[in-house]
Amino acid sequence: MLQSVTLQGFKSFAERTRLDFGPGVSAVIGPNGSGKSNVVEAIRWATHQARARELRATRAQELIFHGSGGKAPLGLAEVQLELLTPAGERVNLARRIYRDGTAEQDLNGRAARVRDIHGALRGTGLGPGGLAVIGQGEVSGVVQAEGKTLLGYVQEAAGLSRAVTARQETEAR
Ligand code: ATP
Ligand code: MG
Repeated sequence: MLQSVTLQGFKSFAERTRLDFGPGVSAVIGPNGSGKSNVVEAIRWATHQARARELRATRAQELIFHGSGGKAPLGLAEVQLELLTPAGERVNLARRIYRDGTAEQDLNGRAARVRDIHGALRGTGLGPGGLAVIGQGEVSGVVQAEGKTLLGYVQEAAGLSRAVTARQETEAR
């Protein structure tokens, strides 16, 4: 379960902004251009579910606040997520990108590899192939999925994908 998202310098979010999600359904509302899609993109980016060009950016540095409304451009974009796994474990993720292109990502406060992050997210719906974020235009693909793709969705939703991946890794040895 996604508990909070904190953005600083990510796209239109020049000021540090924290969104807390309680139990049940949350809605993010606001006028056109106010940053709703940017929040969703921040979640996809921090969880390594999307590349820069799927986030309406040709280079990762375009994710950094480029200045507007009299505010100067920033040198760094950071997104932090707080999650709770189905087993009740807390997961803290942070991803940063600097103007020079250097990037960092932390899992529970320590530098982590992408595969560690994907591993920690498996079963939360925010892992690779998870359906916690369904983009505009992706609905029909999900509804029409068959075979391995459909099986993958069911395994992720049922919280099985962590075990399935562990077995595949063992079998590959
Ligand atoms: P809609 O209701 O039209 O879908 P939205 O609330 O989803 O709007 P977003 O698409 O999230 O809005 O936000 C778009 C805004 O973000 C634009 O004003 C754009 O200029 C701004 N933006 C995007 N990237 C950056 C950046 N790197 N720096 C500053 N602002 C940015
Ligand atoms: Mg939008």
